[in-house]
Amino acid sequence: MIRRMMSGVSLLLALSAFDLQAATNNALLIRNGYVMTMAPGGQDLPQGDVLIRDNNIVAVGKNLEANGAQIIDAQDKFVLPGFVDAHSHLWVTTMRGQFRNGDGKFFPVSNRLAKVMQPDDIYIAMYSGALELLSAGITSSGDFFDNIQGPAWGDAGYKALNDSGIRAIVYYGGPDKTTQKSIDIDHLAVLARQPHGRVTPGLGWRLPRDLKNEENWAMRDREYRMAQQNALPVQVHVSGDASAMFDALIARHYLAPFVTVVHATDASEAQLAALQKAGAALAVTPLSEQHVGYGLTRLDHFHPITRQGLGIDGNSLAGSGDMFANMRLAALPP
Ligand SMILES: [Zn+2]
Repeated sequence: MIRRMMSGVSLLLALSAFDLQAATNNALLIRNGYVMTMAPGGQDLPQGDVLIRDNNIVAVGKNLEANGAQIIDAQDKFVLPGFVDAHSHLWVTTMRGQFRNGDGKFFPVSNRLAKVMQPDDIYIAMYSGALELLSAGITSSGDFFDNIQGPAWGDAGYKALNDSGIRAIVYYGGPDKTTQKSIDIDHLAVLARQPHGRVTPGLGWRLPRDLKNEENWAMRDREYRMAQQNALPVQVHVSGDASAMFDALIARHYLAPFVTVVHATDASEAQLAALQKAGAALAVTPLSEQHVGYGLTRLDHFHPITRQGLGIDGNSLAGSGDMFANMRLAALPP
């Protein structure tokens, strides 16, 4: 079963490759696959076709005709939409294998290596990370880009994801995780004004380390208001001192439909109810949450939240971009 599912994933890869070549070849017919339409109330087509023209799905059905189309024979394969990776850090991709228990834990190691990365290093990590996601059937990513040491770093990350062919929101973050420095609001404003293709900007927002530091809150508030005024989506981690962070988000009225809270491990029922009432979204990342010690992700715990997604949280931290592995871990009974 799994092998057959993975055949479906390899079809997704073929689609991505086709997408990149669209300028020279504008019609593709995927024929005779087990088509999982995922349409609300829709049914699977055990022997179905998908017709793509000019990068858009124009028909899903049986025995579709398409003169001159490139044909992919999907017999005995699954055909399904690409996965959405709701939260990642692709700039960490090239640190694979560096993390271990004890002194070599993820945060101290990645923080040290982050400081010496140049724009070219960012490009290589994010480009190769995006290709890894595509090859695993993930066609969209919410990338929390929190190693932007200057505009050249930010531009390199944007270019990497644009060049890769993946669809992404790049959540523009700061130069490090200490939250002492603001993100580069002016540069983010420049990116927000540019015409967008598959890659669009958002705000990678962090709360003050010291939740009583009002000066830091004022700086964070400026970032948040800028995103709000420019209709940019926002992601924010609620982890570490998670309960106090969540309470601060609620008390200061920062939860809103354009905000996605990441992790929220061990959130209380009251906190989750506040998130739901505000129409905010939730991203959980089972593989990485287990790796960094937040424990097994309790999907049943988050049942009241309507808008939620699964994230990889960086291929090198999760071990791979395998959404099937992520789902299997998430599906473990509590
Ligand atoms: Zn994260």
